[in-house]
Amino acid sequence: MTIAATKKIDFIDLKAQQRRIRASLEQRITKVMDHGAYIMGPEIAELEEKLAKYVGMKHCVACASGTDALLMPLMAYDIGPGDVIFTSPFTFIATAEVIALLGAGVVFVDIDPRTYNIDPVKLDEAIQKFVKSNSGKKAKGIIPVDLFGQTADYDPIETIAKKYGLFVLQDAAQSFGGTYKGRKAGSSGNVGATSFFPAKPLGCYGDGGAIFCNDDAMMQKLRSIRVHGQGSDKYNNIRIGINGRLDTMQAAVLLAKMEIFDEEIRLRNNIASRYSDQLKNNVLTPFVQPECMSVWAQYSILADHRDEMLKKLKSRGVPTAVYYPKPLHLQDAFRDLGYKRGDFPISERIADSIFSIPMHPYLSTEDQDYIVKAIVE
Ligand SMILES: *Cc1c(COP(=O)(O)O)cnc(C)c1O
Repeated sequence: MTIAATKKIDFIDLKAQQRRIRASLEQRITKVMDHGAYIMGPEIAELEEKLAKYVGMKHCVACASGTDALLMPLMAYDIGPGDVIFTSPFTFIATAEVIALLGAGVVFVDIDPRTYNIDPVKLDEAIQKFVKSNSGKKAKGIIPVDLFGQTADYDPIETIAKKYGLFVLQDAAQSFGGTYKGRKAGSSGNVGATSFFPAKPLGCYGDGGAIFCNDDAMMQKLRSIRVHGQGSDKYNNIRIGINGRLDTMQAAVLLAKMEIFDEEIRLRNNIASRYSDQLKNNVLTPFVQPECMSVWAQYSILADHRDEMLKKLKSRGVPTAVYYPKPLHLQDAFRDLGYKRGDFPISERIADSIFSIPMHPYLSTEDQDYIVKAIVE
């Protein structure tokens, strides 16, 4: 007999977090209602200063989403038709979408089978092959993705970028708060981009994002692009930009959440080690490079018969998610790139067998034991 699904387990429990900081959230939000500066209010500068310091970068530019955080630096680099950007096919659509949106070419590079992040050896090969192909297009940059909360392997990536004269734009949408060789996610490469979508490790109550850089000229361009390419004043436009601002309300929410963020990262790591200890004899548990501290945006494992496993877990009341069932090179949106099944075998194999289980700082030991039991049984 199967156990009835009596448990109600959340995949991500934002309510438990809210209960902890409700007073501080209300205080921060009330303050915004009182001063009324809903657009670019004082909380934006306060947040940008805190985030820049946290990440260890000179500048932070808050923006409307993680997608804009990727788009705006590409606009600042003047990326367009004739340019090519290298990235991973095993990521959320936004990573490659922003490249295509600007009319530039996307070249995918397969992932490391253990970390699921872009493979630096294959990256070098792909760039070399591209340069030799004399396509008439110009290689401009690399967007490595920090999947599931673990940063990509930035030292070799930055060496390769220097060798070919490319910029590195770090997609740290899932890794904010994590580290690579002690450096915070968002501080690798030339520019770092992150997302504050509610389900990300640091999330607001809507859409939000941030960009990090050390270069003053880049920061100025990003600030201009954020407000329709404005120059010295609002009605002086010196380039094409977007409406890419973060709402003051969302900055207020993030400021309240920042107060407990480091503790939440520790809790996430405790939960992840507990999962790994209990699951390691039954499934392939996540591999974290010794250089990295993950923030566990997702705890993802592989199953040969995933459909059966997901059905079983669902019947026991354990929610799951599949990130990502279809690599980007096989998406219809990118059919013009001419890729086909077999081009990136590791991404394809992982996409066919990976799934994520509940992960958030407030997952109880009891619920975790229940989830583990449901998986191994
Ligand atoms: C969430 C995410 C984005 C986009 O962030 P939004 O805030 O949803 O626009 C980009 N890249 C990756 C890897 C993500 O996980």
